[in-house]
Amino acid sequence: MERTLLVVKPDGVSRGLVGEILRRFERAGLKIVAAKMVKVTKELAEKHYPGHREDWIKDIGHKTLENYKELEMDAKKLMGTDDPKEIGKMVRVWLLEYITSGPVFAVVLEGPHAVDLVRKISGHTLPSKAPPGTIRGDLSFDSSYLANTGKRAIKNLVHASGSKEEAEYEIPLWFSKEEILAYERAEEKYMK
Ligand code: ADP
Ligand code: MG
Repeated sequence: MERTLLVVKPDGVSRGLVGEILRRFERAGLKIVAAKMVKVTKELAEKHYPGHREDWIKDIGHKTLENYKELEMDAKKLMGTDDPKEIGKMVRVWLLEYITSGPVFAVVLEGPHAVDLVRKISGHTLPSKAPPGTIRGDLSFDSSYLANTGKRAIKNLVHASGSKEEAEYEIPLWFSKEEILAYERAEEKYMK
């Protein structure tokens, strides 16, 4: 049994997609064990997207560079550098602006293999690469090109913890122990 953090980002809330998004997790059998609207402070944003996590920052840079290559775009022209770490750092600044730009809806989802399952239902980071059937693939067409020419983060509707370790770090940032509730869902009888 795992728990994972799912946040409907400001674009999802302002587009009225909270219900549409949560529906997909609920019907897959994931249990909502905590939920709330949050106006993300700069402090929470900084902790949620930690500047010292070099592996994650570089990973964002690599994902971005890969996408540029596919689109035959020049990273140096667009971003001023082709160093994955530098690109990751720039993206992080836009991310902090994005996540604090309006209310978000945060939930903790519980279930077997919840981390991977929630990532699968969410789809690829870049909506332009996320397959149909996923949240990002069905509800957005944003890409690195659109985002980076606009000097902004990719609006991909949701944040989902990337690993068990990330989930264990993130959940306590957003929810106190008392806000996470235990109960049984009807189909647990059938899915055991
Ligand atoms: P994920 O949200 O799929 O776990 P990451 O953790 O790699 O993806 O990145 C965090 C967020 O940063 C993404 O959800 C997206 O909003 C944003 N992002 C990633 N790459 C870029 C990019 N090249 N330009 C703008 N925003 C980006
Ligand atoms: Mg991530």
